[in-house]
Amino acid sequence: MRLRLGAWAVAAVMLGGCADYPPLYPDMDPKRLDEEVRIQQEMAFDRWMADLEHLHTFYAPLIAAAEPFCKTGMGFDYGWAYGNIFDWPLNWRDLAHERYQVDEHPRIEYVKPGGAAERAGIQPRDAIAAIGGRKIKPNRYAWDYLRRAIGKTRREDGGLVVDLRRDEAPFSVTVVPDWVCDFPVVLLRDDVTNAYANGLGTYITSGMMRFLRDDRELAQVLTHEIAHNILGHYRYNPGWKSTPAISQMLEVEADYVGLYLLARAGYDLEGAADLWRRMGAEHVESIKATSRSSHPTSPQRYLAISDTTREIEGKRSVNEPLVPDFKARINKYGWEYLGID
Ligand SMILES: [Zn+2]
Repeated sequence: MRLRLGAWAVAAVMLGGCADYPPLYPDMDPKRLDEEVRIQQEMAFDRWMADLEHLHTFYAPLIAAAEPFCKTGMGFDYGWAYGNIFDWPLNWRDLAHERYQVDEHPRIEYVKPGGAAERAGIQPRDAIAAIGGRKIKPNRYAWDYLRRAIGKTRREDGGLVVDLRRDEAPFSVTVVPDWVCDFPVVLLRDDVTNAYANGLGTYITSGMMRFLRDDRELAQVLTHEIAHNILGHYRYNPGWKSTPAISQMLEVEADYVGLYLLARAGYDLEGAADLWRRMGAEHVESIKATSRSSHPTSPQRYLAISDTTREIEGKRSVNEPLVPDFKARINKYGWEYLGID
């Protein structure tokens, strides 16, 4: 898992003013104002960390459901995230230090429940001294150095020897990674309603998290993006080899396969198509097609998802395996699935 907790946290708190103008509130107590700034920054920080935690826990069974179709996307998962204070945006460093004891030493910031790091006995806040015998220096390049050290070491034998320090006491563990569908989820701090996949991971904005009404809708958006990843669609995007027609076709494929992943993760599909009515109402330009549309229209997607829902529920009712009808669709629509049968 290539997580980098702090680096995603881009705070947009604008402070300070312009000295050429008189103060807006001449009687305002600067001390009280500082306190209020602090309160609002803490609220933003806590909400961000809660979103991150929720998203990672939530994502695990969705990506696991995609594993039988993942093929070229498989990779090692150590079940941890690491970093140091330099990975955090400047105005959140004080809070990161207070709440999570983040400092210049590269430390474990997150341990995935049941993952490889947890099985090896690693705990959050353990400081990383060396990976595979390579010492890790406490500076702003630690994250990149760690990533490279793991990449170089992991194939030498089954496990990765990690030298750690907990409360100043040194110890070593061997982490044996899991072989998983390796498209981690990344949360982006952005108010726009967006999610995308680029072959490295699954990306979702905080604006999209707010727009989605419940867990099933969140799972639906994430499995659509996971489908783009496992189908290798990133090879056509962005711009390269892509036209509006190809882009629309990839969306049709991702909607179809994504819904299967949603069902395989155990979700009830009843009413899943409604998301596209809400999307249409939110983004009215998506209701009708133009020659430049990169996606099918929201009414087309509503109907297609309704049809796929019927197809899947039909299979479920007779205990048929929930496998997309790849071959039938390739023949009928000329879809371009890559390496899946
Ligand atoms: Zn898409």
